[in-house]
Amino acid sequence: MEKLYDQYDRVHDYVRLSITDRCNLRCVYCMPKEGLPFFPTDKVLSQDEIVQMIENFAEMGISKVRITGGEPLLRTDVVDIVRRIKAVKGIDDVSITTNGLFLTKKAKALKEAGLDRLNISLDTFQAQRYKEITRGGNIEQVLDGINAAAELNFNKIKLNVVLIKGQNDDEVLDFLKYTQYHDVNVRFIEFMPIGNSEKTWKKEYVGLQNVFKTCEQNGLEYSPIELKGNGPSDNYQIKGFKGSFGLIHPISSKFCENCNRLRITADGYVKACLYWNEEIDIRKAIPDKKEFQRLIQKLLDRKPLNHEMAMDESDRVIDKAPTWRHMSQIGG
Ligand code: SAM
Ligand code: SF4
Repeated sequence: MEKLYDQYDRVHDYVRLSITDRCNLRCVYCMPKEGLPFFPTDKVLSQDEIVQMIENFAEMGISKVRITGGEPLLRTDVVDIVRRIKAVKGIDDVSITTNGLFLTKKAKALKEAGLDRLNISLDTFQAQRYKEITRGGNIEQVLDGINAAAELNFNKIKLNVVLIKGQNDDEVLDFLKYTQYHDVNVRFIEFMPIGNSEKTWKKEYVGLQNVFKTCEQNGLEYSPIELKGNGPSDNYQIKGFKGSFGLIHPISSKFCENCNRLRITADGYVKACLYWNEEIDIRKAIPDKKEFQRLIQKLLDRKPLNHEMAMDESDRVIDKAPTWRHMSQIGG
């Protein structure tokens, strides 16, 4: 089996694939409230292009694909995309990150198409807050979606929770308690300064130390656990609880040394690092496997060691600009 290495010998076996930049929400940490100009349909990768691209990647050693967006369930062909990616030789794990709003409708078909895992974003259990954070979302719809998915025996559902100071950081205990009776992995994620002004971000960023403190203050005994396919999170389980929790701290504790991922944007660019502006238009090369592989390797040969997110300009060692894209245009 081929293996794909970057210039620091990190093996790359994981692709995060954005299939649309469109979304039915406008989360405060992800998109501006006025929305963004969406890519016209002909700028977005077609289903056939996506499948051929994943075939190219599989031959290079990629075995895991996460479908994301924008909101991936908005794409009417998402079930076919999952089915066809899952059928690619060498791909053994296909997952989706979704806001969950369409899961009641689509979870069963996705499972039948071969979807292995699901991450669902939910930042609060409070209906009014959910409406404010997502700028209009209905929490009942997501909770119904989570319940629908839970009945289908997906391999460990994960809930993504971005903590934002003053908005939901007082709900850590509620999320921890949710894992008592629900076999999910709640992943607390640090708010990242992607597409957000540095000024607002600094005011709203909150580190994750509070999660352990909350456990200790409430007599919740936790210990580290290993979770398969856990990506960059450190995982823990509270004694006697069914589920678990994880911490993803790109700011306070960089995880770049184990980075194994490439990102494809809905308009067909490949990014080696979430943060930096460097990206290559890979769309044209999809039908030409050799050229495709040459371009991917070229990008990986220049992949930076670290993202340097949230560092002062003066401390940066990389002479590059941060990405112009908002998170919804990359896929997280
Ligand atoms: N729409 C889907 C969803 O919300 O799950 C998938 C796309 S969304 C861009 C992927 C993930 O990125 C979500 O879990 C979201 O919470 C996270 N995200 C978006 N903006 C972020 C930011 N500035 N910092 C940290 N995580 C962010
Ligand atoms: Fe949409 Fe997901 Fe971004 Fe929220 S986090 S605006 S659901 S893409």
